[in-house]
Amino acid sequence: MESGRGLLMVFTGNGKGKTSAAMGVALRAAGQGLKTLMIQFIKGSWHYGELDSSRMLGGAFEIRPMGRGFVKVGAQKPDPEDVRLVEEAWRTAVEAMHSGKYDMLILDEVNYAMHYGMLPVERVLADLAERPAPLHVIATGRNAPAELIEAADLVSEIKEIKHPFHRGVLAQRGIDY
Ligand code: ATP
Ligand code: MG
Repeated sequence: MESGRGLLMVFTGNGKGKTSAAMGVALRAAGQGLKTLMIQFIKGSWHYGELDSSRMLGGAFEIRPMGRGFVKVGAQKPDPEDVRLVEEAWRTAVEAMHSGKYDMLILDEVNYAMHYGMLPVERVLADLAERPAPLHVIATGRNAPAELIEAADLVSEIKEIKHPFHRGVLAQRGIDY
């Protein structure tokens, strides 16, 4: 593979650390003079610490929350409003790809959106294939679709061994948000 070509990276699995790992890469990239945009699918209601810390990096790391928080899915179909927000987030992502403003794009929780049928995997793959060659992309979220894994250059699965949630410890400030 030629160097200078952007990588498609996927962080998936049922353990904690997928979004944090993606932000770690953005932090590292910022130090190398690369600009990152993180588009948050689904998220939007909580105030995450990273929204403020990204500003401290002075424009090298931008975060755009484009959801409205926890999405109830399961047996029932996703709420049309959430599907609309996912659609809007994807269009923003495609625009950002071609804007020339970023070296890296983080699609936070996009795997989740695809898994629950809110965004067709084929469309994501087609748009990613058309991105400018040097652009790095990271897709996070549980249940990454097989087709995305197939298309990716790098895939890491974070596996839960323990999580304090299971003994009743709720989300911690600075750790989970
Ligand atoms: P983080 O944002 O902390 O890196 P993540 O992106 O790997 O976590 P998500 O699936 O996006 O995890 O879930 C987000 C929230 O759910 C986080 O607050 C996280 O602590 C919590 N969480 C992650 N994994 C688990 C788990 N296995 N059991 C319970 N809660 C979890
Ligand atoms: Mg996450």
